[in-house]
Amino acid sequence: MANDTNQEQTQEQTRGLRLIEAVPQGHKLALRQIEKDQAITRYNVTIGYASETIAAGRWVHENLVQLPPARTLDQLPIATRAIHLPPLEGYTFQGYRNVDGSVGTRNILAITTTVQCVAGVVECAVKRIKEGLLPRFPNVDDVVGLEHSYGCGVAIDAPGAQIPIRTVRNISLNPNFGGQALVVSLGCEKMQPSRLFPASVKLMGTKIPTSLPAETTSAFEPTIVCLQDAQHVGFESMITSIMHSAEQQLAILNQRQRVTCAAADLVVGVQCGGSDAFSGVTANPAVGFATDLLVRAGASVMFSEVTEVRDGIDQLTARAATPEVAAAMIREMDWYDLYLKRGGVDRSANTTPGNKKGGLSNIVEKAMGSIVKSGSSAISGVLAPGEKLAQKGLIYAATPASDFICGTLQLAAGMNIHIFTTGRGTPYGLAAVPVIKVATRNELAERWHDLMDINAGKIASGDASIDDIGWEMFHLILAVASGKKTWAEYWKLQNALVLFNPAPIT
Ligand code: CA
Repeated sequence: MANDTNQEQTQEQTRGLRLIEAVPQGHKLALRQIEKDQAITRYNVTIGYASETIAAGRWVHENLVQLPPARTLDQLPIATRAIHLPPLEGYTFQGYRNVDGSVGTRNILAITTTVQCVAGVVECAVKRIKEGLLPRFPNVDDVVGLEHSYGCGVAIDAPGAQIPIRTVRNISLNPNFGGQALVVSLGCEKMQPSRLFPASVKLMGTKIPTSLPAETTSAFEPTIVCLQDAQHVGFESMITSIMHSAEQQLAILNQRQRVTCAAADLVVGVQCGGSDAFSGVTANPAVGFATDLLVRAGASVMFSEVTEVRDGIDQLTARAATPEVAAAMIREMDWYDLYLKRGGVDRSANTTPGNKKGGLSNIVEKAMGSIVKSGSSAISGVLAPGEKLAQKGLIYAATPASDFICGTLQLAAGMNIHIFTTGRGTPYGLAAVPVIKVATRNELAERWHDLMDINAGKIASGDASIDDIGWEMFHLILAVASGKKTWAEYWKLQNALVLFNPAPIT
C-alpha cells in the first residue's frame, strides 16, 4: 500500500502501475517506491518501516516490513471520541428468559466439573444421559459436560488463580443453562465446590449455607455429586448418582418456553480466528456494522483479544464513554504487557504462519483489521478475564486472542451468541452457545459451503456492501438466537473449553 495518506495524490502517482513480480491473493504491493526505513501505511496507520528500498509494483511481504515499537500507555486520548448512536427499536427474538433476567438462546443441561480427574466419568454420564434421559425431555436441546484441565496440581491461592476459578463459576451461570447446575467433584481436589461456589449449595441433598459473592444470584443452587463419597461403590453407582440429579434438572429445564424478547437481551461475543488480509476489509467491518446495530438496539456486544487491539489502544481510549472506562482498558493492556514480558515475549508473538500466508505482515496490520469488529460506538465497560458481564452496550472483555480461550472467557461473561470471522478457515464451534461463522473471501465460502454461515467475501468482489452483510448478520443473529441452527451446531462441532490460567502449576 501507499506510504502517503493523500488519496488523490496517491491515485495520480499510481496510474498505470504495473506489477513487477507475482503478488499472492490478499497480499500488499507498493503503490510507489518506498525508501528504506520509510513508513509503510495501511488503514492510515504506520504498520511498519521498509527494511530495504521497495520499488513500485513490488510485493510487500512480511520480511520487508519492520515492526514499529508498541505505543506506550501514557498520554493517550481519553474519552475524546465517545459516539452515542441513535436507538434502533422494534427488533425481537424468541428466547428463554431466566429468573435472574438473563435470556438463553439454547436450553442446555450443563454438568460443571471441579477438576479434570472426573472428566472421563462425566463423559460416560453425558453419553448415558443423551441416550437414556434426553429423549424424554424434548424441550431440552443438549447435555454438555463442562470439562477442563484445571482444579488440582495448581497454585490455587496465587493471584492469577482467580481467573480460572471465576471462569468456571461464571460459565456455569451462562444464560443457556437456565440457572440450573449439576457439579461433579472428585473430593480431594484443590478447587473444592465450596471454593467454586461460595454460596448455598446442595451437597448430595444437603445445603451448605455460606456468604454469597456479589456476582452469583441467590436463585443459583448447584447440586453436587462427589465421586469419593462413601456412598459410591464402584463406577455404576457414580453414574447412577449423576443421572439421578440430571433427571431432576432436565425436568425443570424441560418447562422452559421461548418467549418474545427484545434484541436488547442479546449478549454477543465477537472474535476472529485464522485471519487473513481480507478480515480487515470484508468480514470484520461487516461485524462492526452489525455491532453498531446491536448496540443501537440496546444489546451487549463484547470484543476481546488483547494482543489484537494493543496497537490500537489510542483508538479505544478515545472511544471510552468515561475516563474510568479508558483507565480500565489501560489497566488490562498493562497487565497483559507484563504477562507477555514475564514469558520473554511481546505482542509480536501473535500472528501465525497462516496469517502471514494470508497477507498479514505483522501484529499491527492484524490489529488494525481486528479492531474494526468493535464498530463505531462509545465503549461503555471493561471486563477482566473471566468476569461476568452486567451491563449493556459495547464492552471490551479482555481475553487472549487464542480462539478457544477467548470463546471460553466470553462464555463466562454471559455470551448467548458468538460471531466468529475467518479468512484462512477454521471449523470452530462451542457446545454451550451457537457460533455464527463468517468467511472473509468468496473462495473460502464456496469451498467450505457447509461450514460458513455468512459470506462477507461478496464485499471484496463488489456483490454486496459492508452495510448489506452487516444487516444480513444482524438478522441471522436474531434468527439463530430464536433457534435456527448454525452449521457448527448442525455438525456438532464443539471445541473444548480452555481456561486462561496465568498462575503457576505445582
Ligand atoms: Ca481469536
